Amino acid sequence: MGKRTEAEVVIVGTGFSGLGMAVQLLERGHRDFVILEKAADVGGTWRDNTYPGCACDIQSHMYSFSFAQNPEWTRAFSPQQEIWDYLRGVADKYDLYSHIRFGQEMTGARWDPEEHRWHVATRGGDEFAARYLVNGLGALHLPQIPELDGLENFKGETFHSATWNHDYDLRGKRVAVVGTGASAIQFIPRIAPEVAQLTVFQRTPPWVLPKPDHEVPDWARTLFRKVPALQTAYRDLLYWSLESRAVGYNNGGLTLMKLTQRLGKWNIDRSVEDPALRARLTPDYVLGCKRVLLSNDYYPALARDNVDVRTDGVAEVREHSIVDGAGVEHEVDAIIFGTGFHVTDAFENLEIVGEGGRNLAKEWADEGMRTHLGITVAGFPNLFFLLGPNTGLGHNSVVFMIESQARYVAEAIELVGRTRTAGIATRPEVQERFNATMQRKLAKGVWTRGGCRSWYLDAQGVNRTLWPGFTWRYWLATRKVAASDFELIGTAGDK
Ligand SMILES: Cc1cc2nc3c(=O)[nH]c(=O)nc-3n(C[C@H](O)[C@H](O)[C@H](O)COP(=O)(O)OP(=O)(O)OC[C@H]3O[C@@H](n4cnc5c(N)ncnc54)[C@H](O)[C@@H]3O)c2cc1C
Repeated sequence: MGKRTEAEVVIVGTGFSGLGMAVQLLERGHRDFVILEKAADVGGTWRDNTYPGCACDIQSHMYSFSFAQNPEWTRAFSPQQEIWDYLRGVADKYDLYSHIRFGQEMTGARWDPEEHRWHVATRGGDEFAARYLVNGLGALHLPQIPELDGLENFKGETFHSATWNHDYDLRGKRVAVVGTGASAIQFIPRIAPEVAQLTVFQRTPPWVLPKPDHEVPDWARTLFRKVPALQTAYRDLLYWSLESRAVGYNNGGLTLMKLTQRLGKWNIDRSVEDPALRARLTPDYVLGCKRVLLSNDYYPALARDNVDVRTDGVAEVREHSIVDGAGVEHEVDAIIFGTGFHVTDAFENLEIVGEGGRNLAKEWADEGMRTHLGITVAGFPNLFFLLGPNTGLGHNSVVFMIESQARYVAEAIELVGRTRTAGIATRPEVQERFNATMQRKLAKGVWTRGGCRSWYLDAQGVNRTLWPGFTWRYWLATRKVAASDFELIGTAGDK
């Protein structure tokens, strides 16, 4: 028989989302919350992704909490270890460890309409009962490994970029990398000089622009430490310059994106001499349709003599080799998957049951992920998502979105408190309106019109991942909780 714990709020996850939510609650004087984390430490993305070269691609001074700015970032785009240390530092500073239950994986949650509470089940058999359930599960969290014919017969080493095997020595090995997304373009330049032979299996080439990375000079760090207002001003500058990129992604920005492609083309041409390789690396869709990547060393790595880029796909995996779509067999000792994450199907394994026995995973699988503002879901009172559907970004820091959402969730909880009710239930028509607006805006953006198929799209080909437009509009939309968007249910003492 598992243990039962009661709290006002259960938060799930200890990445930027879960930690940001916890700090928001503390700052408003709410101390009765528990954070469930299936792993053994905080950090989410930045704990798990330890592959060589892992770093953020939004400048650290912006890709961090506004309430915990860090003058010590050593680079414009900090490496994984520094971001992980930063998140652990935030957890320490706000004394969040005392709220966290490590090794507790939520497997499902059931809404009790009498008690107006969520009953959260964990893999170990424990139960957490709470008025509010806030999911900060992460959008890029469950590694995706493609179903390749014969993969189970492979006798060598295989791992995904998010579960890198540091005990496996790649030096002198013949290595295959499957995938050329955001992670692959970071680790390929690191491993290429070490391995004997690197065969890269590329399905669709990404657009890769030069990365304006640099060390943060000592004087700047000292200045940021001594005059925090200067760092805030620098952060604001970064915010607005990143924000200006939304113009290209959205309504009518296609021409701008095509112009920016020239920079991408230049980035290829300056490093790759072989015209055949250049052609294979040049995307045939408009820049921005898939996530735009940043790197100065990816193309030089691909141009090395010991690196081969294959574009015919993987036909079959054998005991010691991969056969590509053109029938060529490549002997390899290891296969590394840089194939991304389960994004739009990430909730399929969670049994979240709302009003009238409604099953969230099933509804989302059938109809696509639908929420109001990416945060609340009709039929699932007092359930909140952080970085939920249609709130991901390609052009700016998602931490900005997470902070807006955490504030909104806290406001919603306080609205329930003020009205002496027991919960809020999203009005279905409000959710419908939000989704219709999202899809109308997305249809005009480069993700839809750019001529590609990306991981932003779900099984039905609908983009339920990105927020279309400026993030300050999202900030505005979430600044106040409109009571009219919800039905207030129950009475305060319900239990
Ligand atoms: C390599 C990489 C680089 C990135 N770089 C950038 C960038 O530069 N800029 C940017 O804006 N975004 C970037 N992202 C996106 C990044 O995922 C988000 O910025 C952010 O880290 C998400 O935070 P999160 O807390 O929502 O999710 P996560 O960091 O994924 O955290 C989720 C947490 O929930 C826990 N969890 C999940 N399911 C359960 C469960 N059922 N029970 C209990 N615990 C659970 C996980 O263990 C994890 O700790 C990057 C992503 C990756 C993978």
